[in-house]
Amino acid sequence: MAESIRTTLQEGRVEQETIDRYAEAVAGLIGTENVSSKYIDLMSTCRDYWPVNSIWMLEGAVPALPQLVVWPRTTDEVSRVLALAHEYKIPVVPYGEGSGALGGVIPLEGGVMLDLKRMNRIRNLDRENLLVTVECGLNGALYEEQLNREGYTGGHFPQSLRCSTVGGWLACRAAGQFSTRYGKIEDMAASVEAVLADGTIFRGRSVPRTSTGPRVDHLLIGSEGTLGVITAATLRIWPLPEKRHLASYTFEKTEDGLEAIRLFMRAGTRPAVVRLYDAQETGNHFPELGDQRSALILLIEGNAKIVDAEAEIIAGYASEQGAEDTGPEHVEHWLETRFNISAASRLLQKGAVLDTIEVTTNWHNAHSTYLAMQKALKGVEGTMLASGHWSHVYPDGAALYLTVVGFPAEDKIAYYKQLWEGAMAACLSEGGAISHHHGIGLHRGRWMAEEHGAGLEVLARVKAALDPHGIMNPGKLGLGEVSKWEK
Ligand SMILES: Cc1cc2nc3c(=O)[nH]c(=O)nc-3n(C[C@H](O)[C@H](O)[C@H](O)COP(=O)(O)OP(=O)(O)OC[C@H]3O[C@@H](n4cnc5c(N)ncnc54)[C@H](O)[C@@H]3O)c2cc1C
Repeated sequence: MAESIRTTLQEGRVEQETIDRYAEAVAGLIGTENVSSKYIDLMSTCRDYWPVNSIWMLEGAVPALPQLVVWPRTTDEVSRVLALAHEYKIPVVPYGEGSGALGGVIPLEGGVMLDLKRMNRIRNLDRENLLVTVECGLNGALYEEQLNREGYTGGHFPQSLRCSTVGGWLACRAAGQFSTRYGKIEDMAASVEAVLADGTIFRGRSVPRTSTGPRVDHLLIGSEGTLGVITAATLRIWPLPEKRHLASYTFEKTEDGLEAIRLFMRAGTRPAVVRLYDAQETGNHFPELGDQRSALILLIEGNAKIVDAEAEIIAGYASEQGAEDTGPEHVEHWLETRFNISAASRLLQKGAVLDTIEVTTNWHNAHSTYLAMQKALKGVEGTMLASGHWSHVYPDGAALYLTVVGFPAEDKIAYYKQLWEGAMAACLSEGGAISHHHGIGLHRGRWMAEEHGAGLEVLARVKAALDPHGIMNPGKLGLGEVSKWEK
């Protein structure tokens, strides 16, 4: 039956005889119950949340199919599975929960999907040093719940919390909604444990900082499965906050809201949540506030005295920029609805093409990049909506997140490509970085040369040295040929 399914991006397959021999050897090492070539298993790991996958899925096609799914339970098993794949030269794609937004798990050359969900234990909770050692396949919501029961928080809340894994966060350099206070995943990671393409096990040291040369841990964070498999990590955690303060404001102009944020970040406040919506998103998310002003929602938490001081300082800067205080209830509404993406599924089923594009800007180009990207998206025929917000803020800038919805008259894929061509060109020409937290995956690879310059060649040489047969997640991160998609 697998043969009857149409694949759109399959770049190659491993000879069946080689896969069969490999499967038998792996089953001998880790048990037949941890290896499958059943069609249902191949189908359920072959794609992620990249919207193009959904377009094809609705047409009865998948981008590519793996030939085997393997479920390791320990780091040692990952090491044996990879050492053997290295020997047989079989592609391996690490798979968390497939919530990636850019096609990062698509098995372009077939081979093995390494589904990591059976590695899901918390190995150690170190209360004194506020560190937790956790395996890569643990689901995000379950990770946070387990910490909460012990009186701690991991501080990491991507919108995909309930459908992503700790290993996926590290592999993609993820950012959670509370990131302005707790940091992004790379700030939280004291160390990682990983298995390289040839089966070598690397274990970083969980110390606050080192001056011992470049950190190998940092090379692996964000490598999206192209250098190895992150099998566990020691992450920083926090005691559950003593106090939480919710506040919201609206501004006549979006630029005024951006200026208020720049000033309160410069003053040293670190609210957990900072989200400034353009007028259109304000109207969509908070209809009671209308669609003429820009809404800023804030959540400040931690030590009660620090929270009170931060709330007062922030209110002062908001007021200086002419803000209207709109109270805590809009933030309560956001907290209740923040993981809900059902509207996207409904739109998809009605034939829409939709996506979100997040980039990084400094303060000087935060607004101009928004205007340029929005203009590019609206300029493509068929676009119905291109709106934006800023979040994940820093003293030197912010993430800009655009949502685009369109109903193209003709080819959806061609329309989708046009959207991204315009948006990425606008972002780069304004000086932005092409991704803040969703990563590169398959789709964004084509802009990696412009993003990194000579740095991409450095990454390619690291990849060639660590993975000489190119078995780890081929064609991703702009490091390999992806002729069928880029044509
Ligand atoms: C509705 C929605 C909301 C989202 N919101 C956010 C958000 O707020 N913030 C954010 O940062 N992202 C967000 N994302 C993107 C996505 O959830 C993240 O990139 C997440 O980190 C992926 O985790 P995963 O376990 O699902 O990884 P997968 O999708 O399974 O894999 C992603 C990539 O990482 C690799 N990989 C996975 N696990 C490992 C491992 N253990 N070792 C090595 N490589 C590995 C895969 O090969 C692939 O290249 C969102 C996605 C969706 C669909």
